[in-house]
Amino acid sequence: MSELVAPHGGGSLKSLFVPEAERAEELKRAATLRQVPMTSRETSDVIMMAMGAYTPLDGFMGEADWHGVCGDMKMSDGLFWPIPITLSASQELAGSIGDGEEVALVDGESDEIMAIMTVSEKYAIDKAFECSNVYRATDTDHPGVSKVMEQGPVNLAGTVSVLSEGEYPTKYKELYIRPAESRALFAEKGWTRVAAFQTRNPMHRSHEHLVKIAIEVTDGVFIHQVLGKLKPGDIPAEVRVDAIQAMIDNYFVPGTAVQAGYPIEMRYAGPREALFHALLRQNFGCSHLIVGRDHAGVGDYYGPFDAQHVFDTLWDGALITQPLKIDITFYCTDCYGMATAKTCPHGEDVRINISGTKQREMLSAGEDIPPEFSRPQVVAILKDYYANLK
Ligand SMILES: [Zn+2]
Repeated sequence: MSELVAPHGGGSLKSLFVPEAERAEELKRAATLRQVPMTSRETSDVIMMAMGAYTPLDGFMGEADWHGVCGDMKMSDGLFWPIPITLSASQELAGSIGDGEEVALVDGESDEIMAIMTVSEKYAIDKAFECSNVYRATDTDHPGVSKVMEQGPVNLAGTVSVLSEGEYPTKYKELYIRPAESRALFAEKGWTRVAAFQTRNPMHRSHEHLVKIAIEVTDGVFIHQVLGKLKPGDIPAEVRVDAIQAMIDNYFVPGTAVQAGYPIEMRYAGPREALFHALLRQNFGCSHLIVGRDHAGVGDYYGPFDAQHVFDTLWDGALITQPLKIDITFYCTDCYGMATAKTCPHGEDVRINISGTKQREMLSAGEDIPPEFSRPQVVAILKDYYANLK
């Protein structure tokens, strides 16, 4: 009998969540420690550590790992890792923390104590080096770059013991599935080849087509959504979840797709983030990641297929999870059906495409979107959202 892909690093899943029986006592202790506030991205990283999605990391990265990850996508021990996982602080706060001191990591938005970290290292980073390598950009119009530039000047590193997953397990009861749980679910369904579809948007027919191509060649698809903070103007998770569920309920064979979400916050790092998304999905037990056009991109910082090509630059054994590279998908009126740039010989003029801006305008005005572009059940939910937004 074949099995699911191994977690990243080849060992077992590593959850940094303190066992439930010890949590209350540790929280009391944490309240007496020096408090280090975290940005929403840092808090989401802590929760990713708790759920085991960052296996095999044991906390926030030190300077050698940070440098290797930014430059060569390698931790100091040679392990593949494409995005730095770091915690920053002000000069003043960092200066007051002693070597080996335990500190409480606090969500800067809710003030909740999330974790205890044993600080083993403090280091200043070259932000331009991080941004030019990870984001291929240094201008702060890029939302990922802007977050790096805004963070404190000193990084704190050390092992992390997580005490809370915040509001995720209650707010997203059905969707919040930890890697150990997704693996158990896939095993129960008898799936070994599982494709993950990363999304932070409602799914139109082009996305549905991507997912259905994946279903044809795997055992099933894990529709995996970003539950962390989004860009202003993005559709909120609750609305998106309903829209996606309407699509699954009406247009999918029961049991072929599982909808779930995870607390990550987007970096919009394009190719680097596509690799990161594949690594994380390996921890969730997925053998494949669907990589379409401009995966995890923003604006025109990346070429439309950079995120597909980057997988070809990896060394052997870097990742087990492989990309399912799929071309741009659309409805073609001359093909009378869904097609991709690889299968449709016709021109742009017969492909039905509506830009994100145009969709927002049409939905806000209560207009229908053609069924060739989006399913009516999905459109109804989005229209309702925009109508109440006014
Ligand atoms: Zn065509």
